Amino acid sequence: MREREPAARKHFWPTRRGFLTAGALAAAGLGAMGTGAAYLGRARPELVVEPEPHLPPALAPGGGGKRVLVVGGGLAGLSSAIELAERGFEVELFESGTECGGRSGGFKTRIEGEEISLDHGFHGFFSHYYNLRDLLGRVADLSDFVPLDAYPLAPKGRPVDVFSASRLPLPFNLLKVMAESQNLSMSAAVSGGVGQMIEMLSYDPVATFERLDGIDFESWAREMRIPGSFYDNLFEPYVRTMFVRPNEVSAAEIIQLFHGYFLANPEGLGMDVLRRPFLEGLVHPLVEHLQSFGARVHTSSPVHALHVEEGELRGVIRKLAGESRLVARFTLADLPERGFREVETRIGPVFARRGEAGVEALNARCPHMGCTVGQDATGGGLACPCHGGRFDEWGSPTAGPPKAPLERLQATVVDGEVLLRSRVASRDEVITSDYVILAADVGGVQAINRNTDWPEPVRRWAKRLGQLGICRPYSVARQWLDRPLREDRYPLYAAGGYDVLDELFCLSQYHREAMAWAKRNGGSVIETHCYALEDELVSDPERIHDTALAESSAILSELAKARVVHRDVQLLENVTDYPVNGQARRPGTETPFANLQLAGDWVRIDLPLELMERATVSGRLAANRVLAAEGLRRVAVMTPPVRGILA
Ligand SMILES: Cc1cc2nc3c(=O)[nH]c(=O)nc-3n(C[C@H](O)[C@H](O)[C@H](O)COP(=O)(O)OP(=O)(O)OC[C@H]3O[C@@H](n4cnc5c(N)ncnc54)[C@H](O)[C@@H]3O)c2cc1C
Repeated sequence: MREREPAARKHFWPTRRGFLTAGALAAAGLGAMGTGAAYLGRARPELVVEPEPHLPPALAPGGGGKRVLVVGGGLAGLSSAIELAERGFEVELFESGTECGGRSGGFKTRIEGEEISLDHGFHGFFSHYYNLRDLLGRVADLSDFVPLDAYPLAPKGRPVDVFSASRLPLPFNLLKVMAESQNLSMSAAVSGGVGQMIEMLSYDPVATFERLDGIDFESWAREMRIPGSFYDNLFEPYVRTMFVRPNEVSAAEIIQLFHGYFLANPEGLGMDVLRRPFLEGLVHPLVEHLQSFGARVHTSSPVHALHVEEGELRGVIRKLAGESRLVARFTLADLPERGFREVETRIGPVFARRGEAGVEALNARCPHMGCTVGQDATGGGLACPCHGGRFDEWGSPTAGPPKAPLERLQATVVDGEVLLRSRVASRDEVITSDYVILAADVGGVQAINRNTDWPEPVRRWAKRLGQLGICRPYSVARQWLDRPLREDRYPLYAAGGYDVLDELFCLSQYHREAMAWAKRNGGSVIETHCYALEDELVSDPERIHDTALAESSAILSELAKARVVHRDVQLLENVTDYPVNGQARRPGTETPFANLQLAGDWVRIDLPLELMERATVSGRLAANRVLAAEGLRRVAVMTPPVRGILA
C-alpha cells in the first residue's frame, strides 16, 4: 500500500466508540493507576508466530513432492495456497464460483451495453491488517490503494461527526475522538459508570469470551449503563457494520472488535481503499502469483465432499455430470396458459412453461454463483436476486454477471403428464492429496460437511461445523445517478438510526471507473449497504434501495432529486455470524485429522483480528501447520496487542 500520511482515517467497521465512554475514563483512570506509561510501551504490533531461522524455508526440489488441495478461493484459501506454493508444495485450488476472491472479489456485468466490473461491496483495508498487507505487498500494484483521510458518522437528525485518523495511543486516541465529536460529550461519557471501560480495557481473547460470550451486546450495554447518546450515535451504527443486530451479537465479539480496531490499535484506525475493481486490483494478481509457482486453480469447480477412507483423510470428491435422470413429474393441466410455474424437483426448483414446441423447463439455479432465480416481474423472464442477473424466457442471460444460460431440462409429455429429466451430477471424481485445506465459506463448509462420510470418532467434532451460522440477509446496491456529488463529500459515511441505510459510499469520489462515469455523464455513483434486513423487506430489494437512496439524500442533500440511471442490486446471505455463545462451537484451524486444516473468517484464531485479516491469518495458520508437519520454517503472523491494558 502507498506509504500513508502520518494519520489514517477513522473508519467504520470497528469501533472506536465505546472507548469514548471508556476514553474519558481511561484518561483519568490510567493516569491514576500509573499504568499508562506501561501500556504505551505495549501498543505496538505483536509477532505471534515467529519463523524459525534454523529450519529450511522450502521443500527440497525433487524431494518426492507434497500435494495440497485447497477448497475455496477467497482470501483464506488464496493466502494458504500462496504460502505453500511458494514453499515448493504442489497446490491445486478449487473454487465453486466463476472467479476467485469470494466476498472480497467481484464480477462483471453490463450497463447499457458496456461491460464493467463490480465488487461484492466496499472494503476497507485497515492499516493494522499486517498479514494481508504483507501478502498484497508481494503481488499487487500498491499505488492503487489510497488512504482515506476522514471517516464520518452520520446519525439520523444529528450533525455528522467527522473523525480524523491518528496514531495516538491510549488514552489520547479516546480523548481525541471525544474532542472531535458533536454528538458525544465527556459528561455523558462519565455518567454511566466505569464498568464498560474496565471491561473493554481488560480484553483477553480467552477470558473475555468466558465472561461475555453468553450475553448479547445490547443487553450488556444496558447492564453497563452505556449512555443513550453513545449507544445510538456511536455503538449501534458501528456494531451494525458487522452485518449484525446489537441484540443478537455476542458482547465478547464486539469488545474484541473494539479492542483490535481502535483501543489497542497502534495504527489508529487508518484505512486504504482500492481505486480499481477488486478483480483487477486484488484477486487476479493473487491468482496469477499463485499460478506463477505452478499451482493449478479451477474455478466453477465445487468440491462435493472430503474423501475419507479407512478413517484417514485422503483428498476431496467432486461430482461430475452423469446420466439423465427423472427429477419430477406433474400434470400438464397444472401449467398456466402463459408464464412460468415453479415446480419442486429432486434437483431443486425448476421453472416450467408452455412453449411452442411443448414444455420448456429451466433449472432455477443461477449459473453465476448458484443463487435461486425467481420470476422477473418487469421483464417476463427470470431474475437472480443476488447479483442482478436476468434471463429471458428461454433462459438466456440478458443482463448482469451470468454468462451461461440456465440449465434446460428435458421435458416430455406422456398422456397429459410432464416428465422432467436432468443430467444429475452423479459420478464421483476422487482427487487425492497429502493435505487438504478447507477454506470455503460457512454455506460451503456445511454442504461439504453434510456430504462427507465422517468416521465415527470424528462425528462429534464435525457436528460443530454443522452448527456454524450465517447472518441475516444484507443488500448492497450501486446506484448511477444523474446528479453530481458536492466536491467536499467524503468517500464513506456510516449511518445511524435510519430505517434501512447502514453505510453509504461515494464511489465517484475515489474509484477510477466511477469517477470517469460521473465525469462523462455529469452524475455520481454511490453504493448503499443495508444489513440484518427485516424479513418483510427481503423479498423486495428494489424497495430497500429506493428507501436507502431517499435516506442517503438526507446525508447528501444534493441527491434529493436525483434520478437513478442504472442500479445494480445484490441481496445476499453469506456472512459469518457471531451469535451469543458461538465461540465454544467455533472450530480452530486444527481438526481431528493431522492433514486437514480449516481456514476462513469464521475460524476461531484467538487473536483480535476480524474479516479480511482474520481470513488471511487463518489461511496462514493453516499453512503453518502443514509447514510444521514437513519440518519447514513457518510464516510470520502479526497482530495488534493481543490483550488490553488491564488484562
Ligand atoms: C459487502 C461486504 C463488505 C465487506 N467489507 C469489509 C471491509 O471493509 N473490511 C474487511 O476486512 N472485510 C470486509 N468484508 C468481509 C470480507 O469480505 C470477508 O471477511 C473475507 O472476504 C472472507 O474471506 P474468506 O476466504 O474467509 O471467505 P470467502 O471470501 O467467502 O471465500 C470462500 C470461498 O469458498 C468458495 N466455496 C464455497 N463452497 C465451496 C465448495 N464446495 N467448493 C469450492 N469452493 C467453495 C466460495 O465460492 C468463496 O469464493 C466485507 C464483506 C462484505 C460481504
